Amino acid sequence: MEVMRVKLKILYDNEAVDGFRSGWGFSCSVEKDGEVVLFDVGADLETLLFNAEKLSFDFGTVGKIVLSHEHGDHVGGIRVVDECGKVEVFVPKSFSSGFKRRLASRANVRLIEVGEAREIGVDIFTSGELGTFIKEQSLVVKTRMGAVVVTGCAHPGLEKILEAVASRFGRIYGVVGGFHGFSKLEALKGLELIVPCHCTTRKRDILRLYEKTSRRCAAGCTISVPS
Ligand SMILES: [Zn+2]
Ligand SMILES: [Zn+2]
Repeated sequence: MEVMRVKLKILYDNEAVDGFRSGWGFSCSVEKDGEVVLFDVGADLETLLFNAEKLSFDFGTVGKIVLSHEHGDHVGGIRVVDECGKVEVFVPKSFSSGFKRRLASRANVRLIEVGEAREIGVDIFTSGELGTFIKEQSLVVKTRMGAVVVTGCAHPGLEKILEAVASRFGRIYGVVGGFHGFSKLEALKGLELIVPCHCTTRKRDILRLYEKTSRRCAAGCTISVPS
């Protein structure tokens, strides 16, 4: 029997595998049972398209885009919607009205504003808008191993995001994304997949402390989890 897998492709990151381009920002795709979700779109379209082509990633397959928060390094490549067919774009409701208006005016875009946590696909959820100062949503994919959490910058605090996800979705298997200034490293204990990307300031400490369960993030790499 074929084992279904959740597959993540890092399309934009501060670091890059040989042959790929790096840039300050983050974007990754999540594929589960034929459904493709794009999480954040990096800082610029050119780098995003370059890396996607090298990974043979086709934006025409994307049915949903989730934007974590309205910082340029996560939404700068938003014109990528022109490469997609009909697409639903989920943004925290705190996004500026100008951004939402521009996005909603695209013929192929259906804009969905997110407040509370909700399901956006089969076993795919948004954490809902978290945080107070800079609000942000994370993506949550439920697998039989536990929840996989994808973060943008983790401005609300990674430990707070993990707490919120665990209280709603139960066991967390792994976390991938930008952890920003996260320093309560013990909060990662027990996770089986730790991938600090993008703006994570304690990247080296995390990779050293969780040697067996963490791995380096770079544009061009693929991460898979049995689902
Ligand atoms: Zn940010
Ligand atoms: Zn960022």
